[in-house]
Amino acid sequence: MQSSASVVAEPANPELDAVRLEALDCQRCDLWQGRTQVVMGEGNPHAGILLMGEAPGANEDATGRPFVGRAGQLLDSALEEAGIGRNDVYITNVVRCRPTAVKGGSVTNRAPRAGEIAACEPWRWLEISLVNPQVVVCVGGPAAKALIDKKLKITEQRGRFFDKEDGRAYIATLHPAYVLRLYSADRDAYRTARANLVSDLRQAQERAATKPR
Ligand code: SF4
Repeated sequence: MQSSASVVAEPANPELDAVRLEALDCQRCDLWQGRTQVVMGEGNPHAGILLMGEAPGANEDATGRPFVGRAGQLLDSALEEAGIGRNDVYITNVVRCRPTAVKGGSVTNRAPRAGEIAACEPWRWLEISLVNPQVVVCVGGPAAKALIDKKLKITEQRGRFFDKEDGRAYIATLHPAYVLRLYSADRDAYRTARANLVSDLRQAQERAATKPR
């Protein structure tokens, strides 16, 4: 077992901590009315790779942490298979409050609307600029459209790097919730999609290792 004396703590990021605190009271869009809490990003505050997902779901809203439900478990296993520790990356979402809809009398998750994604943009760019990663992985279509190109087709353009003006490399990959939905519908498609997710994460890791900040 590693001794506590040999553990090297990540340097703090006080500016990011201040942004996280400030965001907790955000009411920039109507999603604040249905949330339990704002779900800001977590992970290495100086990570070389930042993962940008879609939105908190019920589990994330309840715990205050991104990607902790079944999709989060799949993401964790894909990260591990790609040789990346979850604590080595920074994980966040394009919106930080849970979007909900009522179906059949039950409250369910829904995709964030364009206006909600736009309203949350200041927090998104503050997290990116303060973590300052070399590579941003857009996890799913909404993140890829918001950060890379609003016309991006995720199934056709995932796994490619887009070098942006901010000096970072952006890459889109499949959302683990989408990969999970394939499991019961088409097992071969599930296996292919999961392998693509791992491959994209591995590419991000390799790029971050070679790209200077
Ligand atoms: S989703 Fe973003 S912009 Fe909307 S209330 Fe939550 S933190 Fe604010």
